Amino acid sequence: MASTLPVVEKFHSLQGEGAHVGRSAFFIRLASCKVGCSWCDTKNSWSTNNHPKESIDNISQAVANAYTKGAAFVVITGGEPLHHNLDTLCNAIRNITTRANTQPIPIHLETSGVDPLSGRPNWITLSPKRHAPPRKEIINTCQELKVIVHNQEDLLFAEDIAKHANKSSQPLLFLQPGWNAKEGEKLTLEYVKTHPQWRLSLQTHKWLGVL
Ligand code: SF4
Repeated sequence: MASTLPVVEKFHSLQGEGAHVGRSAFFIRLASCKVGCSWCDTKNSWSTNNHPKESIDNISQAVANAYTKGAAFVVITGGEPLHHNLDTLCNAIRNITTRANTQPIPIHLETSGVDPLSGRPNWITLSPKRHAPPRKEIINTCQELKVIVHNQEDLLFAEDIAKHANKSSQPLLFLQPGWNAKEGEKLTLEYVKTHPQWRLSLQTHKWLGVL
């Protein structure tokens, strides 16, 4: 098991999107992504070059510090965080935050779902991509399904994934227009109006210009 992981950045802020929007959270952005979305807004995380490997002790200590300062949960994101096995990191976070507080900090994972699940997160946000469909095990266990919308095909894809997810995990359903994607914004607003099982997600941190 890895004792280090490549970290792009880690910071304490507010969750900007999805089901937990507006809540205090500590973010760990891991490097590495081979999914290759053309519209990706974190392309600097694709390669592990230029991103130093940090010890899991250091990372989990930073989470514990943020927990004592009010972070309600930790978000492991990327890149694609499941390109790495997260068992050691998540166990370390559970252990160290239990000592820092009475309960371990909840662990949230944001993933495209292309890799096997690891780390036993408390909350999985699945953000699947049409060109790299997610694994069934993640569709079946996610708590939140968040599909980025640029065009009509993305809505069909969202419904298809939701149909499979609803049989088992019954996640909260979010449609999120791509950033600066005018067609995606229009389609999403109209779709949510007429399909009330879906909710709108916006990247509020980008609107506010904060991390
Ligand atoms: S999966 Fe996420 S990090 Fe990877 S290319 Fe797509 S948007 Fe970017």
